[in-house]
Amino acid sequence: MASDIEIARGAKKKPIQEVAARAGVSPENLIPYGHDKAKISAAHLAGLAHNATGKLILVTAINPTPAGEGKTTTSIGLADAMNRIGANTLLCLREPSLGPCFGMKGGATGGGLAQIVPMEDINLHFTGDFHAITSAHNLLSTMIDNHIHWGGEPKLEAVRTSWRRVMDMNDRSLRNIVSGLGGPGNGSPSETGFDITVASEVMAILCLATDAEDLEARLARIIVGYTSEKEAVTAADIKATGAMMALLRDAMLPNLVQTLENNPCLVHGGPFANIAHGCNSVMATSAALKMADYVVTEAGFGADLGAEKFLNIKCRQAGLAPDAVVLVATIRALKMHGGLGKNDLGKVSYEALESGLENLGRHIGNLRSFGLPVIVAINRFTTDTEGEVHALQAYCEKLGVPVSLCTHWAEGGKGTEDLARGVTALIEKGEADFKPLYPDDMPLLEKIETVAKSIYRAGRVETTRAVRNQLAAWEKAGFGHLPVCMAKTQYSFSTDPALLGAPEGHVVRLREVRLAAGAGFVVAICGDIMTMPGLPRRPAAEHIHLNRQGQIEGLN
Ligand code: ADP
Ligand code: MG
Repeated sequence: MASDIEIARGAKKKPIQEVAARAGVSPENLIPYGHDKAKISAAHLAGLAHNATGKLILVTAINPTPAGEGKTTTSIGLADAMNRIGANTLLCLREPSLGPCFGMKGGATGGGLAQIVPMEDINLHFTGDFHAITSAHNLLSTMIDNHIHWGGEPKLEAVRTSWRRVMDMNDRSLRNIVSGLGGPGNGSPSETGFDITVASEVMAILCLATDAEDLEARLARIIVGYTSEKEAVTAADIKATGAMMALLRDAMLPNLVQTLENNPCLVHGGPFANIAHGCNSVMATSAALKMADYVVTEAGFGADLGAEKFLNIKCRQAGLAPDAVVLVATIRALKMHGGLGKNDLGKVSYEALESGLENLGRHIGNLRSFGLPVIVAINRFTTDTEGEVHALQAYCEKLGVPVSLCTHWAEGGKGTEDLARGVTALIEKGEADFKPLYPDDMPLLEKIETVAKSIYRAGRVETTRAVRNQLAAWEKAGFGHLPVCMAKTQYSFSTDPALLGAPEGHVVRLREVRLAAGAGFVVAICGDIMTMPGLPRRPAAEHIHLNRQGQIEGLN
């Protein structure tokens, strides 16, 4: 089979105006970026309010292996298949970050015959949204330094300033730095550092804002540090919000591209799935629901993190309610959960598969506890045997969960038509009755314990007096109603990446909490999390180049 980039380059793309017409966007509401990318105008978004609301389908997965289980690929295959069977469907995905593109994971535009195009553009600079977000974030950083330099009111203490800088690159040497060296004319020395752009609160804010007004109000609420009396100082106090909005003018508009089968796809926003909530923008998802009968969207990581945050943060804040959930599983990952080593996944082992199925079962139970109907999508790899597929199907049947064998990677939308029929049938039954896991007014620590106990099946949450005091102080300051954004490893239900399968009774250690007042959540850090990744020993960047025909090679 040809490589992803070869397949993408051979795509028979339609002009973006034609793709837009399919999504009901007229030429005057389309802002083209070349021939195959466009933004959708604010006027179009504003005019959608009275349209009927479509059905929302969330694509999530079991706990992944380091290779990724194919959520994006399956979302694309499903959207293509839905359109093939006559269900008018719009796909909503995240924008990729340059960090993983040049690092380990590669691009994020699907794979095989289930891709969105133009893949090189989407994976690299695209329409400049990440550059705009980086600039808006760093504008605030420089205005904070300037505020301190000139002694502005309220008096922000340099040592109590928590706002760092961002760039969209894996650059470990910038994690911790001292800025302001070189004498009095060059700022005051202070310890700071860089995070990757996807970890920026501005990214999370852009992705949770419902419109421009809400975006501005959220930016204004960002807490950048504290005075000596421990009073919070916000971006509004620094008078940075207006200029940040100016930089974000275009970035706040959803981007339109197409799948290999010429179906429309909105690609907008890309917050981290650990320190943030990990899904595309509310503005894109909400608009899509008014533009199509069905919307397929993906949440990052496994369902214990990605779907939990999609439901408890994004859906709660934006008033969304999914109608069905597609849970992606691969036989390779299930065998890994059953104890098979990373290098043995090609081996047939019913024993490993059977015991790994616990991981799938746990996710099914969790998703049902949100009141949502679930269908399992087996993302087929060519190495999977018939016997293994049957064992997985039999397990789902035993649990009374519909299951579909999907071959979209090898065959495109044709290979996911059965899943599409399964999804529409599930929605037709009208069983979805979404309820978030905890109410707004539950104390913050109790929210964290609720997620840990009911989703991760932890025995208890351990934390320090400092964390308890901090949470209590935020509750007193009026932030107790916020949802919690859990940050832990994606590989396990527990906080130990090596504990696979379906562990129970483990201890979740809550190390640190951070308030993202603009995004509107409290981050609960359970384990080591990285807000500025580094490059691996052999980064993907070593194999990426521009050939003499002016084409980019080596992206995958
Ligand atoms: P996720 O969204 O879960 O991180 P992706 O959909 O991005 O995963 O897929 C991760 C990688 O796995 C991609 O390079 C993709 O091409 C590859 N992949 C996905 N499904 C298959 C499959 N069925 N067979 C072979 N490779 C696949
Ligand atoms: Mg993905």
